[in-house]
Amino acid sequence: MTGPQLSIVIPCFNEEACLPELHRRVTMAARTAVVGEDYELVLVNDGSRDGSWPVMQRLAAGDPRLLAVNLSRNHGHQLALTAGLDLCSGEKILIIDADLQDPPELLGDMLAAMESQEADVVYAVRRARAGETAFKKATASLFYRLLARLTDVEIPLDTGDFRLMSRRALDALLSMPEQARFIRGMVAWIGFRQVPFLYDRRERHAGHSKYPLSKMLAFAFDAITGFSTAPLRWASHFGLALVAVSFLLVLYIAYGWLAGNAIQGWTSMMLVVVVLGAVQMFVLGMIGEYLGRLYIETKRRPLYIVADVAGRAGGRQSLGY
Ligand code: UDP
Ligand code: MG
Repeated sequence: MTGPQLSIVIPCFNEEACLPELHRRVTMAARTAVVGEDYELVLVNDGSRDGSWPVMQRLAAGDPRLLAVNLSRNHGHQLALTAGLDLCSGEKILIIDADLQDPPELLGDMLAAMESQEADVVYAVRRARAGETAFKKATASLFYRLLARLTDVEIPLDTGDFRLMSRRALDALLSMPEQARFIRGMVAWIGFRQVPFLYDRRERHAGHSKYPLSKMLAFAFDAITGFSTAPLRWASHFGLALVAVSFLLVLYIAYGWLAGNAIQGWTSMMLVVVVLGAVQMFVLGMIGEYLGRLYIETKRRPLYIVADVAGRAGGRQSLGY
């Protein structure tokens, strides 16, 4: 059985206030862009604590093209998105946020870009970001630039998960089993022809960001450790430099001993102890970050657990694990 021409996959966490408008605008965009209404919507409820799930059930009851998936708890944005991607069956796949910061009306142009440039991935690059705090914009900008320096994979700057993908690109993405998922980087890793698409990010339709600083930091750590071992390499380079310095220090100490003025310099000794102690703790912590992720990966747990599914009778409904 082949799927519809297009799947639109949307992870949602506490987005009750956005859902009806989201459904309306996404449906309109899909109807305009896809011939014969041959599309499906996949909404994933990522353990919302508000009324998102009942709203989704209601929308699904009135729309045969909507598949709503309820995860057993909050698994996080990237895993909720993975759940939706696992369950969708379209030939082309649009990933979009629930808060309408990424305008669904761009779908037509993105499809056209995919067609005309024979691309497997059309990723939306944020030219401007309305309604976001200076802090969010500054940290995001810094993060993408730091990441670009650290990684071997070319992850596009200022690009979120808002993108259009071909089925073969999605299948390649879904063949990657890791738990710590930084999807925009994983998509860059799979290769194929990927082209940018410039757009202006809007304000949220309703509610507030579901990415507090703690989630942003966790996300950044996953991105860096998932795509780069540079911090580990720095640690060993730094260690090597210290070995060279300590060799000079040994010469100096031996010279002092020979010259008969060995006991002095509490200050310099304390400095060395304190600085080396701090550096060692930092480097050990860094190694610990990688080790912790290694541990989590070796457990090979399912990426998410589906509790309920609503709507789209007859669709592909394997549960992804
Ligand atoms: N989201 C999710 N699970 C989470 C956090 C966020 O599914 O634990 C969804 C959220 O509903 C939205 C998307 O991920 O559709 C992006 O989140 P948000 O808009 O809050 O992030 P921001 O745009 O502020 O970076
Ligand atoms: Mg948002």
